[in-house]
Amino acid sequence: MSKINVTRSSMPSYEEYCEEIKELWESRWLTNMGAKHRQLQADLEKYLNVPHVSLYTNGHLALEGILQGMDFPKGSEIITTPFTFASTTHAIVRSGYVPVFCDVNDVDYTIDVTKIESLITDKTVAIVPVHVYGNICDTEAIDAIAKKHNLKVIYDAAHAFGVVKNGVSAANFGYASMFSFHATKVFNTIEGGAVTFADDSLVQLLNDIRNFGICGPESVRYVGGNAKMNEFQAAMGICNLRHLGGEIEKRKAAVEQYRKRLSGVEGIKICPEQEGVQSNYAYFPVVFDGYKYTRDDVFAKLAENDIIARKYFFPLTNSFECYEDYPTAGTEKTPVAAYIADRVLTLPLYADLTAEDVDRICDIIIGK
Ligand SMILES: *Cc1c(COP(=O)(O)O)cnc(C)c1O
Repeated sequence: MSKINVTRSSMPSYEEYCEEIKELWESRWLTNMGAKHRQLQADLEKYLNVPHVSLYTNGHLALEGILQGMDFPKGSEIITTPFTFASTTHAIVRSGYVPVFCDVNDVDYTIDVTKIESLITDKTVAIVPVHVYGNICDTEAIDAIAKKHNLKVIYDAAHAFGVVKNGVSAANFGYASMFSFHATKVFNTIEGGAVTFADDSLVQLLNDIRNFGICGPESVRYVGGNAKMNEFQAAMGICNLRHLGGEIEKRKAAVEQYRKRLSGVEGIKICPEQEGVQSNYAYFPVVFDGYKYTRDDVFAKLAENDIIARKYFFPLTNSFECYEDYPTAGTEKTPVAAYIADRVLTLPLYADLTAEDVDRICDIIIGK
């Protein structure tokens, strides 16, 4: 039996990629917003149906780019959730702000909108919710709270590429959204990421902040870093975007097989499909709550069979060693997130995962 990894990157054919990068040997323009970069940006603005896309070398620096670009006073508080990848919390802290952890709801594990307002203080400037697993947050409720308290909403949409809610692309919620195009994501540019937004005044800022803050030949307005997407990354994105629809269809088939096998099994909890949401089938999280085996037992049993699942997300970011001395840290403040983090496993999922693979995985989980 062959090994099944938790994910496997989507790639175009070798020939298609070579054809795409061929002209780089003539132009000798490898990075700094070249032709491929410009094309991918236009392709993505169209695909995501969003006014502006600013491409970055990875999703994390895209999130830092928008957070630093907002130029909130140092020490400002940003409300976010701990049930996410390290990147979300780190980007807030590395930008000089204080993460205030809000719990998640126990249905789709996005931010619990009923708990946001009690965390708002006179230092709160923004909310950074996460569309975790591609589940779209309660964007209407978040908008209403943000409007009432004059807060900016910046979504970590790393998981939500291609997701559409009631006809609106995930790229259009809040003031801005960050996407990741990492190799493990539904759409990849090897490493890569972007900020999507509607405010025209952000275009120059976000483009400059990724290029040392350089605004013109003799003008440097921001203390920017280096986070430019290069031409080889952009070329991979151009190719992968051509095949994305088919890849998502294949993921959907795998997810449907998982649902068929695992829904209704006592002690196994699966996220319900969100109403009005066209999913990208990015992840398949399963929560073992009162099941005959614990999450860690299932994880170990799969590993014995050369099947790699992932404890995603465990540990919570508010229990990271690096935040030990943070006054806002501590998992006791986010009991639902803590409960889920101890019981969740994301099962292998990628476009080429076959129905037989899914059956093999489910047989082991069910233990027949
Ligand atoms: C992948 C991911 C990121 C970071 O993106 P990179 O492109 O890997 O830098 C941020 N947040 C979440 C939730 C992610 O899954």
